[in-house]
Amino acid sequence: MISPPKLRNDCFALPPGVDWIPMETALSTLRDRMTPVVGQRVLPVDQAAGMVLAAPAQAQRNNPPADNSAVDGFGFAGPVPDGPVEMALVEGRAAAGVPYGGNVPVGMAIRILTGAILPEGVDSVVLQEDVAREGERIAFNGPLKKGANRRLAGEDVRAGQPLLPAGHRLQPQDIGFLVASGISDVTVFERLRVGVLSNGDEVVSAGDSAPETLGPGAIFDANRPMLLAQLTQWGFEAVDLGCASDARDDLRGRLDRAATEVDAVLTSGGVSTGDEDHVSALLRDEGQITSWRIAIKPGRPLALGLWKGVPIFGLPGNPVAAFVCTLLFARPALEVLAGGQWRQPQGFDVPAAFEKRKKPGRAEFLRARIGSDGRVEAFSSEGSGRISGLSWSTGLVAFDEAERHVTPGDPVRFLPYAGF
Ligand code: AMP
Ligand code: MG
Repeated sequence: MISPPKLRNDCFALPPGVDWIPMETALSTLRDRMTPVVGQRVLPVDQAAGMVLAAPAQAQRNNPPADNSAVDGFGFAGPVPDGPVEMALVEGRAAAGVPYGGNVPVGMAIRILTGAILPEGVDSVVLQEDVAREGERIAFNGPLKKGANRRLAGEDVRAGQPLLPAGHRLQPQDIGFLVASGISDVTVFERLRVGVLSNGDEVVSAGDSAPETLGPGAIFDANRPMLLAQLTQWGFEAVDLGCASDARDDLRGRLDRAATEVDAVLTSGGVSTGDEDHVSALLRDEGQITSWRIAIKPGRPLALGLWKGVPIFGLPGNPVAAFVCTLLFARPALEVLAGGQWRQPQGFDVPAAFEKRKKPGRAEFLRARIGSDGRVEAFSSEGSGRISGLSWSTGLVAFDEAERHVTPGDPVRFLPYAGF
């Protein structure tokens, strides 16, 4: 008789027998299995910064809408040959928002200001600083090309042109771009709601107790406010799920509630294989989540899975590992759940200011920052409990699984936190 495997119904499940997995495998598995889980709505564009476009945006209007002057000066029909030239001015002027209705005859010029539509008969503008004016006559030196200091209608954006694709997260400057292109409303994804849950009997919420009243075994919950702030900065709706004790029922109850309130959950702590590692125990016993042991430092125990259909990212408890795993794994996956594009962190090759011998086997990430000499410095300790190094750093130096001996001046890959 054939005995079938246990039904896992788990989008994160690895093939049977696979235990340690390289980071790139973990990332590509995540990438393959994530799809948007949020609804859509239409928003006025000025309220849409930080939201993800759910439909491509298409220009409704040329930008600029008409040929206009790039400078304050005098407009006429170009070109002007080499040498001095004199022109009579027409009466009146062309200003931004106050066009000149008449025609400027060949050989004459008109006073024109920046942004003004070019009147009929004008295709070139000379800068006022290059002009001598006496009464209603001007003189300046050529040569001046036809089209000098002119902005052409539609030279930036043409009506009907695609502007930004679905899945693009709107930056502040995108709002300006869309508005200038005549767009008033955009279809966006609802914000992804991401819950953050801490775990551990020793972990105390900041604000619940004064430091001097805590026993030496207690530690403040650093992960939860840190991760909530990071999620908010990325444009997600961060939901505080509190801190569970090391009692399985407490954890189960909070995850059950989370499943009705949020689209995804980040937990930290309790994912190793110790007696009090209840997140992983819950996964193991109730079979709804799968632990991945990813070959990275800091980090490794990372539990990924579904709880009642909601993706759970079970992060390590150490703040450094929790933060780094959030950047590396949760960040790109959450973006896809939110309707956005998978994100490859931005990286730069920068000369190292440090020496390091790295063993083969695991990918490794050092807390790092760019020094005043333009080289990248690494934090003095690699201990994953050293949260001071997170604050000190502005990014990570990334090493792949290979063995490596870095000496000062060697190029290394720097990933700024802002590039995740
Ligand atoms: P665990 O994975 O639960 O064994 O936790 C690993 C380490 O991270 C332990 O030293 C915990 O005390 C610490 N830790 C767990 N959760 C937090 C948290 N929310 N804030 C700060 N440290 C934590
Ligand atoms: Mg714990």
